[in-house]
Amino acid sequence: MELHHYQQLIKEISAQQAKLVAVSKTKPAAEILRLYQYGQRAFGENRAQELSEKQTALPQDIEWHMIGHLQTNKVKFIAPFVHLIHSIDSFRVLKEVNKEAQKNNRVIDCLLQLKIAAEDTKYGFDLQMVNDILKSEDFRDLQYVRICGLMGMATFTNNELQVRKEFRQLKQAFTSIKKDYFPDTAHFKEISMGMSGDYQLALEEGSTIVRIGSLLFGAR
Ligand SMILES: *Cc1c(COP(=O)(O)O)cnc(C)c1O
Repeated sequence: MELHHYQQLIKEISAQQAKLVAVSKTKPAAEILRLYQYGQRAFGENRAQELSEKQTALPQDIEWHMIGHLQTNKVKFIAPFVHLIHSIDSFRVLKEVNKEAQKNNRVIDCLLQLKIAAEDTKYGFDLQMVNDILKSEDFRDLQYVRICGLMGMATFTNNELQVRKEFRQLKQAFTSIKKDYFPDTAHFKEISMGMSGDYQLALEEGSTIVRIGSLLFGAR
């Protein structure tokens, strides 16, 4: 993407008080650096090992976001530095993140991934599961993770009404969880939704973080 298009996109996103995570999965360092030179600092990857290799190779002031399904045995690769994990989809992985965060003497910010798409997606919680976790004694024992909000992916479809409905559902889930569990918790504030094809709808429906790949880097 050309600089002036990037600047236009940033303007569009920040007009809604949201933030851009540039999804750089499969893209080489040189392409990431080009965006870095435009001023972009937040990048997202969906594989722990690729994320960790890029973190080593690229400027140290990049903020790395984990956005894909995370296996428990891979948490250790990203725990020392990851800025935000968007894709917590089981209590088991949350516990593992807590354990690795403690080892690294830090608190790791996390989002809970909610299933909002109509299509049968493998990963993510339903609202009841999130409630069960947040109510549990086991959850309160986790001192090294901080839940900062929710993440979701809409159905891959041209049907705008459906996508909008799903984003609205995530926003509603956020509002109810905020009210029930985090009313006075300032850091519970993120709704990570919107990708290249649907980020404008997501912004209209209250997204605070859009995760955009192909629009920035070209098709994968
Ligand atoms: C790849 C990916 C994106 C970015 O998708 P684009 O359509 O290329 O913008 C966003 N979120 C997640 C979880 C992804 O895996």
